[in-house]
Amino acid sequence: QAKQAGRNTLCLFDPQMQAGLNKRAALEADLRNGLEQNQFKLFYQVQVDRHGRPVGAEAVLRWEHPRRGLVEPGEFIGLAEESGLIVVLGRWVLLEACATLANWARQPAMAELSLAVNISAKQLRQQDFAAQLQGLLGRTGANPQRLRLEITENAVLGGVENTIAMMQALNKLGIVFSMDDFGTGYSSLTYLQRLPLAQIKIDRSFVGGLNDENHHAVIVRIILALGNSLDLQVIAEGVETERQLAYLVANGCRYFQGYLFGGPEPVAQFNARFNG
Ligand code: C2E
Ligand code: MG
Ligand code: MG
Ligand code: MG
Repeated sequence: QAKQAGRNTLCLFDPQMQAGLNKRAALEADLRNGLEQNQFKLFYQVQVDRHGRPVGAEAVLRWEHPRRGLVEPGEFIGLAEESGLIVVLGRWVLLEACATLANWARQPAMAELSLAVNISAKQLRQQDFAAQLQGLLGRTGANPQRLRLEITENAVLGGVENTIAMMQALNKLGIVFSMDDFGTGYSSLTYLQRLPLAQIKIDRSFVGGLNDENHHAVIVRIILALGNSLDLQVIAEGVETERQLAYLVANGCRYFQGYLFGGPEPVAQFNARFNG
């Protein structure tokens, strides 16, 4: 039928578009299956102070795919968000992160570490998100004071008032917030003052740009000044060179994350830093 109509009318079944849709559907089914089969893992990337001492970690998701090998979030988080699967996946991430925190608390060398977890806007928009987290904290025995949730500027797209209310409910549990990829989204300055944040994270695109003489150096300085004057902790992500580190330190940055200190590592490898 489509073939007949296709002869002299607009073709609605563009084979390329169809192939794209098939690929999405297949990936979505694959994601669901991966969740059921426990194919997801959290990796941990160290965060340090200006003396290079570890203060915590960021948990980043990896998919151990039976055929594709280790898949990074860039390949699947977008689709997980669009399909709503991120809610289930994100809940697993939080459970796993809380279990890790509880485990660290039992090891003297790791007891003081904090753990940052990436949260999608859709997760934060669930009415019962704070109750869910409270449940996970209770189940695992994790200390909420050691948990930090990383959100992006997208988080406010569902309504600023709702976002603030949810953040405040979580703050009451002892959980703090960090604004991830700061400087890359919309309306940074408008929301920066209103949202109950503890930290902002300088996006790695600005840190990476510190290698050349360009406007990135000015942007980094402005973000640091802004954070310091609003009493927000500032952490730089994507720190790869001593030169970048020196510039950041000279301009008042106190916390750092990046390949200079270590990339994302499986939990055993991360733990070995402390108990080696
Ligand atoms: P992000 O939150 O900005 O996470 C940090 C990313 O920077 C990680 O990429 C890490 O591998 C990478 N990175 C760390 N140090 C360096 C460095 O020195 N140089 C460079 N070039 N890159 C560095 P990854 O693991 O591929 O994660 C990409 C993004 O996926 C994350 O960006 C985050 O937005 C998202 N993501 C990761 N895990 C989760 C999760 O559990 N839930 C949600 N919703 N999103 C996640
Ligand atoms: Mg990556
Ligand atoms: Mg992050
Ligand atoms: Mg980031």
